[in-house]
Amino acid sequence: MSTATLPEVLSESARSFAAGPHRLLIGGERSDAADGRTFDTVDPSTGRTIAAVAYAGTEDVDRAVRAAREAFDDGRWSGIAAAARTRAMLALADALEARADELAELESLDNGKPVKLAKRVDVHLAVEHLRYFAGWPTKITGATLPVAQPSMHCYTRKEPVGVCGQIIPWNFPLLMAAWKIAPALAAGCTVVLKPAEQTPLTALRLGELALEAGLPEGVLNVITGDGETGAALVDHPDVDKIAFTGSTAVGREIGAKAGRALKRVTLELGGKSPNIILPDADLDVAVKGAYQAIYYNTGQACNAGSRLFVQRDQYDDVVGALVEAAGKARIGPGLDPSTQMGPLISAEQEERVLGYIESGKSEGAELVTGGSAREGDGWFVEPTLFSATRDDLTIAREEIFGPVLVALPYDSIEEVARRANDTEYGLAAGVWTRDLSKAHKLAALLRAGDVWVNTWSAGDPSAPFGGFKASGVGREHGREGLDAYLENKTVWVNLG
Ligand code: NAP
Ligand code: MG
Repeated sequence: MSTATLPEVLSESARSFAAGPHRLLIGGERSDAADGRTFDTVDPSTGRTIAAVAYAGTEDVDRAVRAAREAFDDGRWSGIAAAARTRAMLALADALEARADELAELESLDNGKPVKLAKRVDVHLAVEHLRYFAGWPTKITGATLPVAQPSMHCYTRKEPVGVCGQIIPWNFPLLMAAWKIAPALAAGCTVVLKPAEQTPLTALRLGELALEAGLPEGVLNVITGDGETGAALVDHPDVDKIAFTGSTAVGREIGAKAGRALKRVTLELGGKSPNIILPDADLDVAVKGAYQAIYYNTGQACNAGSRLFVQRDQYDDVVGALVEAAGKARIGPGLDPSTQMGPLISAEQEERVLGYIESGKSEGAELVTGGSAREGDGWFVEPTLFSATRDDLTIAREEIFGPVLVALPYDSIEEVARRANDTEYGLAAGVWTRDLSKAHKLAALLRAGDVWVNTWSAGDPSAPFGGFKASGVGREHGREGLDAYLENKTVWVNLG
């Protein structure tokens, strides 16, 4: 692969990594796929190939799981001092931070997102996530239990679940990798990580940096491929736990397989999150928040605020302000520092999003701004806003995963709470108000894993994140996120 096709603006370090070769990382060794297959990763700003990447087939998945099993069973990670796990994880966080510019460029190149956003959000939060979970190994404790029999000494131990298969999407590649590996590593598990086929670069770089930071070989294995690679990982009998972030359709399939095999499973899936502006809200702040909630990351966020409910009296003002803001969006390639909104991830995603836009028009929603793809290279779709009155439109029910917002008027709080909850999803919800009482009442009524009041997408490694209903199973982050990687063992000792 010649580096000549890579964008001029790339730094030397990002360029040299991006150019490849990109091999699987198994047991501390880089290797080609057993059958030599590769696939191309593409720059969504141009549609051009960045580099070829090894495609892991069933044999490679098996080799990766065996490497993770060996690393788990011989205690090279779970058996070392807890403080040593902390040190290695902190070293990995430092290594990412030291290469923040390079990683942000790689992410921007592979995913298309604005490079500034990649640095400020993806890389920075990945570092913070690793640092937070690096604090846990020395604090994982069981308990001594006051059982009825005085001759019994009964206590619990928290033990790592074992080998974890972790499958992540393309919208926040490095950050999703950090969300997955950090609690697993803190618990003492070993990992086989499968990034999305569209964005394999930063996960491969993460795997290399983990080795350099002192994680023992085989503790973090990175295998690149597509959905079949992911399915082979889910199906592998020696994987103890599956952690998945992605579409609800694939999540259902993985959940069903994990159920049959009785594997541990956590699923972070899609959403159709309601964002509610109450009449007493600071409208300027609410409009800015509603804009960011949907158009951030080109709408490719599981927690996008994709249904906007506005009280009828303010409706026209809010819609008008959003149209004005959308008209000013600077759309362009992620590596251009002035870009505010990058492309969609792929031609397939563009087609999907445009299909939803067509369905909105044909089902009778009013297209008030946007709605078109940009001519030329790359997959750019304008920030799009529909005004609608019916909650049963396809665009008001299904996750679009693109820059498409549906605004809907409402009259009363009771009505809006009911309509907001009338969805199969339950990942997030937002409320914009100055009235404390209404804020807390709505926060309790909304059936969602996160409720944001006068903000959107607030998050922290210590704050549980995950979905109600079809938005997922289990929680990531915080103690709950760690617990998903721990087994509980109860030990009874007859003292005689
Ligand atoms: P997806 O198919 O769910 O992909 C997510 C991850 O799962 C990728 O690593 C994917 O591999 C892998 N995968 C696919 N099929 C699998 C299977 N049968 N078993 C195990 N792993 C499998 O999502 P997508 O196709 O990239 O995007 C489709 C839609 O999903 C989007 O339009 C959006 O609505 C939703 N989505 C949601 C999130 C979220 O954060 N909730 C993230 C991404 C997408 P490959 O990509 O390499 O094939
Ligand atoms: Mg790519």
